[in-house]
Amino acid sequence: MSNPFSLHGRRGLVVGIANESSIAYAVARTIRELGGEVAATYLNAKAEKFVRPLAEGLGAPIILPCDVSRPGELEAVFESMQARWGTIDYVVHSIAFSPLNELHGRLVDSTSEGFRIAMDVSCHSFIRMARLAEPLMPKGGTLLAMSYYGAEKVIEHYDLMGPVKAALESSVRYLAAELGPNNIRVNCISPGPMLTRAASGIKDFDELMADATTRSPLGRLATPEDVGRLAAFYIAETGSNITGNIGYVDAGYHALG
Ligand code: NAD
Repeated sequence: MSNPFSLHGRRGLVVGIANESSIAYAVARTIRELGGEVAATYLNAKAEKFVRPLAEGLGAPIILPCDVSRPGELEAVFESMQARWGTIDYVVHSIAFSPLNELHGRLVDSTSEGFRIAMDVSCHSFIRMARLAEPLMPKGGTLLAMSYYGAEKVIEHYDLMGPVKAALESSVRYLAAELGPNNIRVNCISPGPMLTRAASGIKDFDELMADATTRSPLGRLATPEDVGRLAAFYIAETGSNITGNIGYVDAGYHALG
């Protein structure tokens, strides 16, 4: 009997590796450990020197620039995967962005342009990835995005990103409904606070981590490696009947309500 947890023969894209602490890097490592292949991207020339060695260490056959707000870059990544592999099995979207002044202000004071940028990079880019992935997944596949509990409940200092992540979670459900008939599963993972570069932009993040540690039922923080394992579970045969789902990797914090 074949191992339903195995990722042997699964090929796909992980977007969001910035450095060794990135959740995307832990996801990509787990995929490789379980036998899958990973195409990786870096944001721009400045990021390339950090990301390329990590991606090469993962044996990534495709390493390309991808700023989702630059027209053509995302399309070029999918064209490259099609040329090399023909079809793909998964896409992992592990990116988020908000202009810092917006993130550090109140939602009520957010500008239309700041909100648009955050929504485009952190949410609509996932929809664009789904559109580009669909023709490359003729037998089905898995699309995964990273959300956060601030989508559901008010988390201090998360502000603008709350409604953006709520839109991302809603998009996951609508995409799951639209792409289900093509056997494409669409899910998101909601990790607890983890010390990454994106997280360092959130004011008083250390307090958020301390609260998550003391109040979560398990009394500890979840790790990017935990997220990697759940991501692999969704991508492997194990996830074949799971779609439109939010998987919490937060030591149970969300259960407190
Ligand atoms: P990170 O800084 O390592 O990763 C964020 C990534 O977003 C970076 O690789 C960055 O290059 C990429 N990015 C930003 N703008 C982009 C653009 N225009 N085009 C392409 N890529 C762009 O931080 P992380 O914590 O690993 O974040 C990954 C995901 O996890 C994000 O969606 C984040 O909201 C989510 N998340 C993080 C935490 C946490 O506490 N760290 C908790 C829950 C959810």
